[in-house]
Amino acid sequence: MNGKSASDDRPCLLVLMGATADGAKELIAIQREARRRGEDIVGFYHSHPDHPPMWSQTDLAEAHWIGCSYSITSVAGGKADVTNSFFLAGDDESSKRLVQEPVEVLSVPRVETGATA
Ligand SMILES: [Zn+2]
Repeated sequence: MNGKSASDDRPCLLVLMGATADGAKELIAIQREARRRGEDIVGFYHSHPDHPPMWSQTDLAEAHWIGCSYSITSVAGGKADVTNSFFLAGDDESSKRLVQEPVEVLSVPRVETGATA
């Protein structure tokens, strides 16, 4: 995502959006906590259940962090499918645009869900 990764000198943080109905207040708290820990917010993530992993007009309208990455994972049949990432380019709200960027998965930690097959 825009050349940023866990291997950079500064720790980075990817914010998961949409976890609560009051995401804006939560984001401010997350930003404050990240600064306290010397970390930067480098991107935002959300999913598109049963829709392609491409940004929508709503996604662009709600993207305000120029220079950050906005990652979208499509979910098909309840399972994560394809992840795309878009860099928010531009100088301000009037010129902002989402530009697709390459995604490189360096490792996938095993997550125990407790589900049985
Ligand atoms: Zn979206």
